[in-house]
Amino acid sequence: MDLRKLILVNNDCYKAGKKIDVKGIMVHSTGANNPWLKRYVGPDDGFLGVNKNGNHWNTARPGGIQVCVHAFIGKLADGSIATYQTLPWNHRGWHGGGSSNNTHIGFEICEDGLADANYFNAVYKEAVELCAYLCKEFNLTEQNIICHSEGYKKGIASNHGDVMHWFPKHGKSMDTFRADVKRLLSNEEDEPMTLEEKQKFNMLVDTVEGIRKKVDELATNSNKMVYACVDGNMPEWARPTITKLCEKGYLRGDQEGKLNLTDDMIRIMVVLDRAGAFDK
Ligand SMILES: [Zn+2]
Repeated sequence: MDLRKLILVNNDCYKAGKKIDVKGIMVHSTGANNPWLKRYVGPDDGFLGVNKNGNHWNTARPGGIQVCVHAFIGKLADGSIATYQTLPWNHRGWHGGGSSNNTHIGFEICEDGLADANYFNAVYKEAVELCAYLCKEFNLTEQNIICHSEGYKKGIASNHGDVMHWFPKHGKSMDTFRADVKRLLSNEEDEPMTLEEKQKFNMLVDTVEGIRKKVDELATNSNKMVYACVDGNMPEWARPTITKLCEKGYLRGDQEGKLNLTDDMIRIMVVLDRAGAFDK
């Protein structure tokens, strides 16, 4: 989502300054073939482009009508899709033509000729992301999202067909819309790791790996060969020395006669033997 802000401060709705307790979101579409945000949002901020007709909604009564919404989704001058917040989210908007104005954030998706799948998919995705964002902001779920035509059926909005005259042309509905918002909300519960968290995680992996190696080492050491007597298990190079030490009575073993010699011990003994230490 490319969320930007240009509050329509000259609109009578903004000037009315009424606040609401946000209970839901109402999705609208403009009902006119004009996907450019500059048609509704102005003046130009360098991204919107100039509305040469001067008929954007940052005026007291756009087209002589008391109307204002909380956001528009459509095209920037460069053709990319963006969302413009045009009222504070908890401001009472003039979008539903009924009691929904007292409870719902209302935003407009700028319509094109309704046939372009690329444009539709882009603004649909943008709208899903906007709704997921607002659900988190205001503790709502996807169940709190309706379109204007659903609002009419509920008796809280005027008799308009948006957005169900458009979404089904591209295989979508308000049910798919709500499901997509829900999916986004549940995905975001498993927040991706930040760089810092990733580094900490990697350090932890290294630490655990280090501990594992130490444990392996200890296990190997504790399994180190201990020689009880001079036999085939003892390295051949050590046998003459150990035999000599036993014969001379320097090595006697424990009560059971077991020598209990480790590799380190026999190496030391062999070195001493080569140095002539036992040849007196
Ligand atoms: Zn509408």
